[in-house]
Amino acid sequence: MARVIVIGAGLAGLATAMEASVRGHHVVVLDQRSTIGGRASSELRDDFPIGFGPHFLLKKGPLHRLVLKISRMKPSTLPLRPHRIELVGKGMMQPRSPMMDAVLYRRAVRKYEVAHPSIRAAEQFASWGMGSEVRSKALLRSKLLGLKEGWSGLIGRLAVTLDEVGIPIETGAKVTQVERNKVHLADGRHIETDVIILACGYRRSKQLLPNIPDCESLKASTIDVALDSTPLGEKQAILDIKNSIGLFDMKQIHPGIVSSGSLLSAICFSDKPKEQRMEMLDAFLDERAPGWRSHILHDRRQEQVTVAILGDRPSHDSVAKKGILLAGAWVESEHILSDGAVASARLVAESIASIPLQK
Ligand SMILES: Cc1cc2nc3c(=O)[nH]c(=O)nc-3n(C[C@H](O)[C@H](O)[C@H](O)COP(=O)(O)OP(=O)(O)OC[C@H]3O[C@@H](n4cnc5c(N)ncnc54)[C@H](O)[C@@H]3O)c2cc1C
Repeated sequence: MARVIVIGAGLAGLATAMEASVRGHHVVVLDQRSTIGGRASSELRDDFPIGFGPHFLLKKGPLHRLVLKISRMKPSTLPLRPHRIELVGKGMMQPRSPMMDAVLYRRAVRKYEVAHPSIRAAEQFASWGMGSEVRSKALLRSKLLGLKEGWSGLIGRLAVTLDEVGIPIETGAKVTQVERNKVHLADGRHIETDVIILACGYRRSKQLLPNIPDCESLKASTIDVALDSTPLGEKQAILDIKNSIGLFDMKQIHPGIVSSGSLLSAICFSDKPKEQRMEMLDAFLDERAPGWRSHILHDRRQEQVTVAILGDRPSHDSVAKKGILLAGAWVESEHILSDGAVASARLVAESIASIPLQK
């Protein structure tokens, strides 16, 4: 049994703690913030779960399977439906009329014809420009899910499970330095350990361990806003392929999420500067959700957030010689986004046993 410190209580950190504890290790999780969940979170404001940008769960992907495994009650999910998604300048993603458009759409989905605008849109928006065929097909086949409880609900489920097995999560614990078998905190403490898991995102991990290879990241800007009006009507989303902007109404995707109004979540992941992306998002909302500004109940803006790492990702055990393992969506696995974070957690947990214990 090894003593394990997990740095970061986002999805990767929580999933790693769970997997490591299942294998009999003694685990402690540290997070610098006062709340857990990292980027995959949401915050309840007057019953509106305001998120940090739109998030959709891949049906039967690693995260969904993990949540189903640990939950006594299944989370309530409903899918994005292509016939309720508008593509700017093209009509609905799944046209129902005229008949010829409907037939062409069905053929395009069956043969996965990337020249068809609906397939192109799925390629672009199901994985925020990363072109994951698995997630694109999931969107086209109504297997990309919105959650009634928001992503904080999922985080809550993981945290409850950790609590039940006695794994402590310490918030407000910022790690400033890591070295072999020792973690230093901003409050002056240091903790001895056998294994350190960096589950604190690519940028923070690189600050703690500069020899992690340089990676290019996919950045986005987001606006999440609760309204007392329904400017998208019954549409679940409006997607602009040309400008890489997606506007989703989470209430139209899962009506149980709030009792009235709408919960808009907009994202722009073009490679333009962040100020320009924010301007584009505001202009898009003005055009596509008319009157939204005079109906705002709550809102949250993220000028710039890292969605994912592009290109080659470092292996979870690339710095194992130092007694340090890497977990997160930015670490190599066969999955991406939060599924990548959960998949890396399992790889990391399996590798803990290969790290020699401190004498
Ligand atoms: C806009 C947007 C949309 C997305 N959409 C989807 C989607 O639709 N589907 C999907 O599956 N995924 C999606 N993702 C990706 C998903 O959110 C992430 O892959 C996942 O949340 C990453 O989890 P993580 O635990 O690796 O990192 P994070 O969530 O970033 O967690 C890292 C944690 O480490 C903590 N930390 C950092 N530095 C320190 C330190 N020095 N000491 C202590 N703690 C520290 C942070 O406070 C944080 O809690 C999206 C991401 C974004 C940004």
